[in-house]
Amino acid sequence: MIPYGVSGLLPGCELETVLDSLPLAIFLKDSSLRYTWCNAQFERYCTCSRMEIPGKSTIEILGDSHAVQAAETDRAVLDSRQRQIYDAQISCPCGEVTDVRILKIPAVTRDNQVAGIIGVVIDLSNDRKAERTLIRSLSQATEEKSELERFAQDLQSSLAYTEDQASQLAELAEQIESQKQSIAEQNQQITRLMYHDQNTGIHNRRYFFDAAPPLLTEPGDQNRPGLLAVADIDHFKRVNDTFGHAAGDEALRAFAKVATEQLPEGSMFCRIGGEEFTILLRPMAIDAGMALLNRLRAAVAEHRLAYGDDTIAFTVSLGVAALVPGTDLDTLLRTADAALYGAKKSGRNRVLLAESSS
Ligand code: GH3
Ligand code: MG
Ligand code: MG
Repeated sequence: MIPYGVSGLLPGCELETVLDSLPLAIFLKDSSLRYTWCNAQFERYCTCSRMEIPGKSTIEILGDSHAVQAAETDRAVLDSRQRQIYDAQISCPCGEVTDVRILKIPAVTRDNQVAGIIGVVIDLSNDRKAERTLIRSLSQATEEKSELERFAQDLQSSLAYTEDQASQLAELAEQIESQKQSIAEQNQQITRLMYHDQNTGIHNRRYFFDAAPPLLTEPGDQNRPGLLAVADIDHFKRVNDTFGHAAGDEALRAFAKVATEQLPEGSMFCRIGGEEFTILLRPMAIDAGMALLNRLRAAVAEHRLAYGDDTIAFTVSLGVAALVPGTDLDTLLRTADAALYGAKKSGRNRVLLAESSS
């Protein structure tokens, strides 16, 4: 028991009762570092009851866990006469480990001698708990932040991937576009090859039989019904025999050129066989057509093809059928052919209108 009463200050109150009611653990040690007293709060850290505390050492009261640190700081208080404050963990007899802040103050006598130590133990458990919760929520926030950063990074790289894909798609679209263009060009080339004669460059037999029938079904002009002529170069075999096959090819090209020059725009001119050609003039009056074909025949007859040192001349015969609405191409061709036969028979280098057409 502390021998001082505080009854003078607070009537009826013992100092010990006051100290017991403080929310702090308080202990006293003498100069040989033996406990002399502790209040009720300190008892929870002790291995024995507070009644048995006087005369006991730190290690006896608190056990091994805190003994070394306690001895060092006790010694420091006695030697330096300075207070010591430090944080420690004390294992209570109940098994609980408590975070505490310990304040040790030298107890000085009236004649300035250090009689011992006054110790105050502050329980930091609640502070530590709050601190731990704070640390936990801080680390959680850090984790959440880095998760967000990861997400942002993922988003960025997936956006970059999407951009990449978009530019790949654009590239692909460009490639498809240029492929489409080259396919269109190829188609044009195929159509050109399909419908043109390679030697003369004019339309071929296939073109004639594809393009002429639809033209014949179109309603025509009564006064200008049009004409179908079949032209055949006269004695063409002789050209080949005299000057060679290459000369014959060149003569075919020359014929095509001279004839084209004589034909009005929009007329159909096709090579349908070796040295056989068709001419479709529409709309065209019969007389005008016959005159035009005669001019063509004359131009061919007058033409001279320079071939090496030679000059090649040739003539052409034409059989003509007037276009009769509703008559099919085969019939018209047969009619024109019959007239051609007549032109050949009557001496060649002439244009003959089929009898049925006149
Ligand atoms: P006709 O006046 O009766 O028509 O006599 P022709 O000699 O013109 O008639 P024929 O049918 O006897 O001979 C046609 C010749 O045309 C035979 C063939 O060798 C020649 N020929 C056909 N196609 C070509 C060709 O692409 N190039 C050359 N160089 N000759 C060709
Ligand atoms: Mg022939
Ligand atoms: Mg011939």
